[in-house]
Amino acid sequence: MSYTKENTAVRKFDVVIVGAGGSGMRASLQLARAGLNVAVLSKVFPTRSHTVAAQGGIGASLGNMSEDNWHFHFYDTVKGGDWLGDQDVIEFMCREAPHVVYDLEHMGMPFDRNADGTIYQRPFGGHTANYGEKPVQRACAAADRTGHAMLHTLYQQNVASNTTFFVEWMALDLIRDADGDVVGVTALEMETGDVYALHAKAVMLATGGAGRIFAASTNAYINTGDGLGMAARAGIPLQDMEFWQFHPTGVAGAGVLLTEGCRGEGAILINSEGERFMERYAPTLKDLAPRDFVSRSMDQEIKEGRGCGPNKDYILLKLDHLGADTIHKRLPSVYEIGHNFANVDITKEPIPVVPTIHYQMGGIPTNIHGQVVVQAGGDDNHVVNGLYAVGECSCVSVHGANRLGTNSLLDLLVFGKAAGDHIVEFNKHTPHHKPLPADALDMTLARLNRLEEASDGEYAQTIANDIRSTMQSHAGVFRTQATMDEGVVRVAELRERVNKVGLKDHSKIFNTARVEALEVENLIEVAQATMVSAAARKECRGAHTVEDYEHPADHPTAPLGRDDVNWLKHTLWHSQTNSLSYKPVRLKPLSVETIPPKVRTF
Ligand SMILES: Cc1cc2nc3c(=O)[nH]c(=O)nc-3n(C[C@H](O)[C@H](O)[C@H](O)COP(=O)(O)OP(=O)(O)OC[C@H]3O[C@@H](n4cnc5c(N)ncnc54)[C@H](O)[C@@H]3O)c2cc1C
Repeated sequence: MSYTKENTAVRKFDVVIVGAGGSGMRASLQLARAGLNVAVLSKVFPTRSHTVAAQGGIGASLGNMSEDNWHFHFYDTVKGGDWLGDQDVIEFMCREAPHVVYDLEHMGMPFDRNADGTIYQRPFGGHTANYGEKPVQRACAAADRTGHAMLHTLYQQNVASNTTFFVEWMALDLIRDADGDVVGVTALEMETGDVYALHAKAVMLATGGAGRIFAASTNAYINTGDGLGMAARAGIPLQDMEFWQFHPTGVAGAGVLLTEGCRGEGAILINSEGERFMERYAPTLKDLAPRDFVSRSMDQEIKEGRGCGPNKDYILLKLDHLGADTIHKRLPSVYEIGHNFANVDITKEPIPVVPTIHYQMGGIPTNIHGQVVVQAGGDDNHVVNGLYAVGECSCVSVHGANRLGTNSLLDLLVFGKAAGDHIVEFNKHTPHHKPLPADALDMTLARLNRLEEASDGEYAQTIANDIRSTMQSHAGVFRTQATMDEGVVRVAELRERVNKVGLKDHSKIFNTARVEALEVENLIEVAQATMVSAAARKECRGAHTVEDYEHPADHPTAPLGRDDVNWLKHTLWHSQTNSLSYKPVRLKPLSVETIPPKVRTF
């Protein structure tokens, strides 16, 4: 069987959103409430999107439990991101934070409560009061199931507002017309194996992260970077892809996450000598230093022979001193995870953990309205008409080179809503759809038909596994120029293999082999963007740590050298040419003074 234009149906909506995680559903809610005809596509049932796994909380300076305000949150986010974040959008996010949290509360989100009825807030890594003086309680939490509560709340509100969901549909490619405007998206209905062109005035990518380009990951299996692959194939660059966050506390050997909320509630990290080593690396914030800091410190302890266990290859997270009551009340899922994935009763003994891939700081470049932007005609932020991106797949650049915990759920809410509002206005001035171009389906049909004809090529999962192990060994917590340069060569070879992926099973009904073969084409875009961007950045910043550089001369305990003279700039990777360009970081906030770069100690 081959896929043809004749057997591809067209359907028409005002807006198509690809992704039903927190960002996609926050945006769709705004659109559906305004009466737009909005379709939301998802590879899985909406409430199974990765947002459901978020545990610790949503950052907002409500000040319910300790003195706080958005200026502190703003400062922490800029410093946490090692000055690579754009300060205008960071200001916007931190100022909007209390509003979007109260919106959620009014929708019925079951937050934990204080005795006075206000929302419970716990401390989290890198969040401080008084500009770094001491930890602050800023993470709004529903036990350790905050994402679960949030995603279900948003789904229910969308159902009430008549959002149309296309469940188990996989978007394949963006449709751009001769002007470069986005006018729709192609998609595969997994149940039938049929392909559709979804014609829209605007398309929004909300496909989440691509943590599955690494072997050890806290991410869901569906996090294959499809939106990034779609953007890259459509000629849109990917921004700051060298910056990947390792979460300090993945369960050793399993990858499953133990929320930073554990340390927020008072858990500590110890080495084989029983020492609380974070006191040495970050005297003020200790175990609650930002994630890049803590992950590096853990790896350093392991490298210097103070790892735990028979192979001295993990660190222990100690929670028993919190008491069983607190653990059962505040961290019930962590308790279960301990049992199920490490056979440990965390109320009695410490649990083995290692830094594990968790989050991508980079993504599809956007402006404050969620509109996708590219470099064109001397403009670094030229809008691609009809295309929006929100959530982890996007890079509005609030997280810079290292995200603070709780700022992602916040990012989804703030920019999901902002993008939704922008589209509502755009729709008012856009009564008609632009026509679909004659070649709308060409790229998708070519991809599908190549697979139909390639029965004897390599199995997609074999290549996907090789991508994962390559990324694991060439783009880890500590990188060197030599390992990154070698990684660039390896990934180029993997791309050649991806071009020849085979598909033995050509059946149409729920053919997951076809889905996986299509996903590998997205994995490779993300992997190559990461490797090439990383090898080119000749400094250390945030999560990008290259051992070839020295500590700052006057600060031997600060991270290895950052080079603000040459590298205070965003990377843009272009798939078609496998090349890079750069654009400046926006250091000017909206209403307050710039926080100038300084040495980053905690
Ligand atoms: C275990 C874990 C715990 C976390 N805890 C926290 C926390 O406490 N606080 C915090 O701020 N952040 C946390 N994070 C990060 C945060 O949860 C994520 O960054 C965020 O939820 C991503 O949301 P999203 O809307 O961008 O995408 P997701 O929630 O990942 O949703 C992506 C959606 O896109 C769909 N999709 C993907 N590709 C396609 C395609 N080709 N076609 C159709 N649909 C597609 C998927 O089906 C899904 O619906 C955590 C992350 C993990 C992994």
